[in-house]
Formats: sequence, structure tokens, C-alpha cells
Amino acid sequence: CGIVGYIGHRDAYPIIIKGLQRLEYRGYDSAGVALFDGNDINLSKTKGKVEDLKNKCKSSISLEGKLGIGHTRWATHGVPNDVNSHPHYSNSGDLVIIHNGIIENYESLKKELINRGYSFTSDTDTEVLVNLIEEVQKSEGVLLGKAVQIALNQAVGAYAIAVFDKKKPDEIVVAKLGSPLAIGIGENEFFIASDASPFIEFTNNAVYLEDEEMAIIRLGKEIKLRKIKDDAIA
Ligand code: GLU
Repeated sequence: CGIVGYIGHRDAYPIIIKGLQRLEYRGYDSAGVALFDGNDINLSKTKGKVEDLKNKCKSSISLEGKLGIGHTRWATHGVPNDVNSHPHYSNSGDLVIIHNGIIENYESLKKELINRGYSFTSDTDTEVLVNLIEEVQKSEGVLLGKAVQIALNQAVGAYAIAVFDKKKPDEIVVAKLGSPLAIGIGENEFFIASDASPFIEFTNNAVYLEDEEMAIIRLGKEIKLRKIKDDAIA
């Protein structure tokens, strides 16, 4: 399973597809991509290979966008099918997430979210996490980085995640516990991936997140590394 993401001045789609192919060795059953075209998120995902994803993307979505995330899934919660593939939207459609790992307490979190009016289209633990982040954003009125941090403090399990908010498309938030996550830093552009192979030709400036660490990656800024258990995130 693998994660790739890009934010910067290049087209995200080819970087993501090539990156996912380089991560194929990690094993997977499905693949997907979400691209922000300047107005909206265009998302495509499928059971099968990255090659199948490419074919589906070509015929179904705009491939434009300088911001995007892509995923190869190794199913743990919910069978391998198109709907359970990542990325996953939050209920508002503003947030989109990719996740490698397992959220062990997803059932109780899901029940609480359903009580608060959330609905779910997939059987995954991941869709619970993205809606929990949205709920924290709304109920606490905090920025995405803080919302991710608060949500992850309620989650038990293992993860490498990347999430962005289409209302704030200059930013990707990532976090790691258990599964690997690397950030490639270029000239006013950032890459994220499970290992450095997807961005090796663009930059050799890489940061590997430690367990329980998260990063707020914002265009035009230094990346902010934070401990998930620290409460100093603004
Ligand atoms: N637990 C998540 C799922 O089943 C992520 C699996 C993965 O690591 O790819 O969708």
C-alpha cells in the first residue's frame, strides 16, 4: 500500500501516477487519486492496478491540478472494491483523505458521528477518520492542522495520512504512526510519499516523519513539524 501527494507549480497527476507505480512493490488491491483543479476536487478510484486507474481517469475526470493525492490500498476494513478505495471525501465534500494503516476504534467513532448526522458510503475505517476531522473542524472552529491533531488524539491505531481541504488549497496536512511517510521539499513545491522513490528526480531534500509526528505543508512556507500529542498547534 502507498501514498503519494503533490502541491506546487507542476501538474500533480503524472507525478502521482508515476509515484504510485514506484510504490507498487509494497502490494495493493485498489488505487485512487484526487486532484484539485482550482475550483473543485476531481476524484477517481478503482479496484485493480494503477494501470486500471490511469484508464479510468482518462475517460472520467479532468486531469488538471497542481495539488493532488493518490493512494494504493491494501484493504483491512471493507472488501476491495471501487467504493472502499481511497481517497475518501468528508460529508461536506470539502475534505479528502488517503490513509495507509488501521483505525482500530473506528466503530465507536462511527457510531458517534452517525448520531451527529454523518452518513457513510464505504465500509472503511478511513472514511470515519475524515469525517471526524470535519466534525472537529466544525465544532471547534479550528484550522485543518489542529483538527487533524485533535481527531488523531481520539483515534487508536496506525496510520500514514494525507488530507487537504478544498476551501484552503494551499495546504496538505500529513501524519504518521506506524506506516512510513516522507516529505520531499523543492522550490516552492512539496512532495509526499511512503518512501522517497516518487520524488527522487525532483529533490533530494527529504524529511522522514517520526511516529506520532505530523506536518502542516503550506505553499510559500516552511513545513511545520508537530508532535500529535503536543497541544501547541495553532
Ligand atoms: N484501513 C484502510 C482501509 O482498509 C487502509 C488500508 C491500507 O493501508 O491501504 O481502507
